[in-house]
Amino acid sequence: MSEVDLLKTIRTFWVSRATQALAKGAGVKEDLKAQLERFYELLIQAVDTGDPAWLDSILNAWSTSLTMTDLDTGQSSTSPFLSEIMRITWQVCHETLDPEQALSLTASLLPAFTYSFERIAYLESQERVKYVSTQLNQVKTSLERLDRSKSDFISVAAHELRTPLTLIEGYTAMLRDARDAATISEIEVELMNGINSGARRLKAIIDDMIDVSLIDNSLLQLNFQPIWVNRLLKALEKELSPALQERNQKFCISDFPGSAEMTYGDPERLLQVLRNVLTNAIKYTPDSGIVNVDGRKLPGFIEIIIRDTGIGIAPEDQELIFEKFTRLGSTSLHSSGKTKFKGGGPGLGLHIARGILEAHGGAIWAESPGYDEKKNPGSTFHILLPIVDKPPDDRLARLLKPLINNQITEEIIT
Ligand code: ADP
Repeated sequence: MSEVDLLKTIRTFWVSRATQALAKGAGVKEDLKAQLERFYELLIQAVDTGDPAWLDSILNAWSTSLTMTDLDTGQSSTSPFLSEIMRITWQVCHETLDPEQALSLTASLLPAFTYSFERIAYLESQERVKYVSTQLNQVKTSLERLDRSKSDFISVAAHELRTPLTLIEGYTAMLRDARDAATISEIEVELMNGINSGARRLKAIIDDMIDVSLIDNSLLQLNFQPIWVNRLLKALEKELSPALQERNQKFCISDFPGSAEMTYGDPERLLQVLRNVLTNAIKYTPDSGIVNVDGRKLPGFIEIIIRDTGIGIAPEDQELIFEKFTRLGSTSLHSSGKTKFKGGGPGLGLHIARGILEAHGGAIWAESPGYDEKKNPGSTFHILLPIVDKPPDDRLARLLKPLINNQITEEIIT
């Protein structure tokens, strides 16, 4: 008797045995029976033609019916089901046929089952990839939604918080103007100055928070213009001289190679970077200390090196300080002015500095022998600024070209 005839002989017994073993509830019995009958019919075709691909349609149906739990847990429900079918088939063969027929039938069924297992593994992995990419798309959509709400925060912070502060500043100025200079008392002047400086500090913090949001959402826009590092440093030396005087500190700026060279960058943003690093150098250096600014020209970059003779930074904190809202233990918890010794800040300055430099294609990092408030080992901040010979914006490049060619740029744009 051929294998196909043997299969036909045991068909009824196989269907009833498999249905009984595999149906877990009475409700699913009929449906399962129909599916098993179909599988068996296709199995006969596969053995008859020698082509196991006959089983594809039912294997496809089974593997695409994986439940969410199967997909979530990464477990297969079809492979154990198929193993069970194979086990029942071997059992039925041995119970109903003589040993020789049973052996010959199981041997002829083996390629069809091997094929089925491989096919199921492939189809299930396809289903899982589909499921994971749907999940990823969902995460992407919710991240995009989150990003949008972050950007909304930026505009809320920018308009709703900044505006009342500008009003406070404006009304204080009006109040001062309304009072006759001769009659205004000293205490009133002091109170108004207090309101003004409080409002200014709050505005600076809000501006920093907005900058952090812009950087974190890759929304920072740079306004490229010709710049000279030595001019930026000179401007800051002037701006910071009252603080340096107050703290009896010395500022030594060297004319290093590259500092007088023209490159392109956003002058306001780069001033902000240098201001943040220099104010920290003043802030974390005791009175009578020295802040040294040096640098060098590297292939494609200008390196600015800012050294202080301050309290230093422990090696494990040298990367951490660039994370937002980081204030090391040495820093006072109270914001007590921008350049007071160890005066606290919101811990955003270096995060913003790094964001601005990275937007320019540059970098910033810190080095220090360690933290020691007695020995004051000092800290060194390295700033790498790319040398750009043409502004990234073509329109600006066209506009500036005649000026640059006439060599008069330096005098005009400062
Ligand atoms: P903050 O507003 O607190 O100064 P920053 O982001 O500018 O925030 O700096 C983060 C922390 O890094 C500071 O609180 C301080 O602990 C440490 N730090 C920054 N610059 C120096 C420095 N030059 N010397 C020692 N510690 C520093």
